[in-house]
Amino acid sequence: MKIRRPKGTNDFIGARGLLFEELSHLGASIFKTYGFTPAILPIFEHTDLFARGIGTETDIVSKEMYTFADRSDRSLTLRPEGTASTVRAYLENGLTREGVQKFHYCGPFFRYERPQKGRYRQFHQIGVEVIGDPSAAADVEVIDSFLTFVEKAGLTGLEVKINSVGCPVCRPGYSETLIGYLKNGDEVLCSDCLVRREKNPMRVFDCKNPKCNEFMVDAPRITDCLCDECSAHHEQVQQGLTKLGHSFVVDKGLVRGLDYYTRTAFEICCGKLGAQDAVGGGGRYDRLVEQLGGKATPATGYAIGLERLMMLVEESRKDTESSSPVLFIAVDSDTTRLEGLALARKLREGGVIVQMDHLTNKLGKQMKRASKAGVQYVVILGTSELESGTVGLKDYATGEQSELTIDELVKKFSKS
Ligand code: AMP
Repeated sequence: MKIRRPKGTNDFIGARGLLFEELSHLGASIFKTYGFTPAILPIFEHTDLFARGIGTETDIVSKEMYTFADRSDRSLTLRPEGTASTVRAYLENGLTREGVQKFHYCGPFFRYERPQKGRYRQFHQIGVEVIGDPSAAADVEVIDSFLTFVEKAGLTGLEVKINSVGCPVCRPGYSETLIGYLKNGDEVLCSDCLVRREKNPMRVFDCKNPKCNEFMVDAPRITDCLCDECSAHHEQVQQGLTKLGHSFVVDKGLVRGLDYYTRTAFEICCGKLGAQDAVGGGGRYDRLVEQLGGKATPATGYAIGLERLMMLVEESRKDTESSSPVLFIAVDSDTTRLEGLALARKLREGGVIVQMDHLTNKLGKQMKRASKAGVQYVVILGTSELESGTVGLKDYATGEQSELTIDELVKKFSKS
């Protein structure tokens, strides 16, 4: 029997591997300009971290975690998200007195979900977390970093949805009102939502069942029941986004799937993704640090799904040329091959992508392979070129051919 990759996982190789790497580097370079530093954290944690941090009633904890006992019978879980781990690291590394902490991360996450386009069992997230800052400005700045990143990656046509999910002052009153409404849903709500109604009624908004969604259209909204402080915060977030020129919509039914969110919740969507249309989302989680054993500390952040981002970037680049020209050096003997290797080294020092074919000395065969691999330029370094101290350069896009010295070639392609 052939061994295949597990259901819901992906192999990123070739062009997709390159894109994965490019986007994670782009994210890191942009987040650096916002003052975020990398948090490289374990892929598995004690199960209790997620049970306490995310909430046992959530789908993630109750149905989707990859939990296993290690050889010493400890219960460990492959991380399903990054926020709980980041807060655990913040507390464990004694950063609580170091002022506001700003982290970014990129890596694999695991959820036992039903695989479909844009939804996998191992997926990757790029995210940021700001711990210790209660301001609306911090929410605005994180949303701005999200948009800067995905726009630099080439995405257009995004929709920013924001909402406020209230705080421990205004949420209990709202929950009562909502439960009152949900009491009329005995016949309509799915079995999960009947449990949510008792334990965490706002999560009924998050249900994927169309009947539940329809029932919730007329449900009372938290945004209409916010306390003065949450209301002012919500207003300031909107003012900040407007000031930065980001358009957005207030989506009163937007509640995030996890229990620790307070006040700002947001999602950034792209219709081109189809049913799973959120590129990423996040919000404020002022209660999580306390929930995990620290002092009450405000925090805000988000996670972007790298697979979804890749799908959109691939779509937007379909018709455009790759930005880094690829050079192929073709040679016709073992001697010119060594000269070719030396030339490749010089060009690579200047950041140029260079390929060679070491399996044949036949120029024609090498050119065929170069053309098949989609390279833009072929450099011909044969015996006669070596004698005359030049190389031939063929531009596959225009068909133009020229002759130049090695120094001229290196100068032409090296990135300054
Ligand atoms: P969440 O951590 O659920 O708020 O998700 C944040 C983002 O991560 C989503 O908007 C998706 O882009 C991505 N994401 C979440 N779950 C998955 C999954 N199972 N497969 C692929 N991407 C996911």
